[in-house]
Amino acid sequence: MVDGFRPALLQEALKIRSEYDCTPIAGGTDLMVQKARGFALKPDFEKPLLFIGHLPELHKIIIENNQIHIGAGALLTDLLNSKKIPAIFKEAIGLMASPPSRNLASIGGNICNASPAGDTLPYLYAVNATLVVMSAKGERTNPINEFITGPKQTALRRDELLTKIIIPNKIFDVNFYRKVGQRKGMSLTKAAFLGMADIENGKLTDIRITFGSVAPVIVRSWEIEKYIIGTPLREIKAAITEIQNQFEPLLRPIHDARSTAVYRKKVSLRLLEDFLKNISKEK
Ligand SMILES: Cc1cc2nc3c(=O)[nH]c(=O)nc-3n(C[C@H](O)[C@H](O)[C@H](O)COP(=O)(O)OP(=O)(O)OC[C@H]3O[C@@H](n4cnc5c(N)ncnc54)[C@H](O)[C@@H]3O)c2cc1C
Repeated sequence: MVDGFRPALLQEALKIRSEYDCTPIAGGTDLMVQKARGFALKPDFEKPLLFIGHLPELHKIIIENNQIHIGAGALLTDLLNSKKIPAIFKEAIGLMASPPSRNLASIGGNICNASPAGDTLPYLYAVNATLVVMSAKGERTNPINEFITGPKQTALRRDELLTKIIIPNKIFDVNFYRKVGQRKGMSLTKAAFLGMADIENGKLTDIRITFGSVAPVIVRSWEIEKYIIGTPLREIKAAITEIQNQFEPLLRPIHDARSTAVYRKKVSLRLLEDFLKNISKEK
């Protein structure tokens, strides 16, 4: 048997977290794979488990002050079924894993797993998601790009849980998401690209560009976005090569069983080009 705690309420979970060195487990779709030892063998958990996936406080999806508050335990299926979640975010979530896995997997687990291939992350970085973490002592907030500190590394402290993700309740004028995998469904990401933009009077007034799976963490450059904002749509096409050249050194993919580094970089820059070409066609 694996030792574990199954608190009924979030406050109880935080108290346990403050008293014991334990591993939170939500859906277990990452943890069970990482700790598996083989058929019929119990997984190799070094610490007692703290089951949090059932906690009601972590499942709410509400709109408050024009922001969407998503409980960290919200399942990928809950997000897909919610009318509050922007369509472009659902597009990314709908390509994750399979329906049975999405019925177990939580958004909080995807963030805390902090994989550069985590498929909720390109959107969450693009919208400057704020993460709320709680301990028995209180709560603090972190922008997602400060919470994730490296591959599989976060700023979560030993006594804390991620409880909520806050994103703006906003839809951009142009939305573009592509996940490149081995096949259309049930496929882990080789490279992911997300682009969103706002347009007014034939000019770009906002742009967000993020790349997944091509560096230790999601790639976003506020400097390059600032450089692009204000460009008239008719000038975008001519600026594509320059924008690709600016992003190129930021893309430092690895070569692994899923893909080669060369392919990852090439396809990512091509997707950037497609996105910019799409924008240039907007009226
Ligand atoms: C077959 C299969 C296919 C998959 N396909 C994809 C895919 O296409 N794209 C993708 O991005 N991922 C994929 N995954 C990975 C996984 O399903 C997701 O990352 C999922 O969102 C993890 O959520 P979970 O609730 O199962 O996390 P868990 O496994 O329960 O936890 C993951 C990590 O987060 C920590 N954690 C969880 N919740 C909290 C919290 N609230 N506070 C603090 N720490 C917490 C845990 O301690 C653990 O370290 C796949 C996995 C499988 C098995």
